[in-house]
Amino acid sequence: MKCFKCNGELELKKVNYVVDLENTIIIIKNVPANVCMTCNEQYFDDKTAENIEKIVNQLKELSAEVTVVNYKEKVA
Ligand SMILES: [Zn+2]
Repeated sequence: MKCFKCNGELELKKVNYVVDLENTIIIIKNVPANVCMTCNEQYFDDKTAENIEKIVNQLKELSAEVTVVNYKEKVA
């Protein structure tokens, strides 16, 4: 698999996924992603994208200004 943007090499890494919502910022740590070595673009597989969506839906109800969670703990 290559980067869709620049055709660079992708490497599987753990990244911090940040969602900036109107009244809260959610940071999900250690999300597995394919990251382009050249332009840093991040790609998530379907299952991971689905999990991220679930986590965000769950957490955006909280009124905390910033919420930091660990991907592994939420998905396990
Ligand atoms: Zn790229």
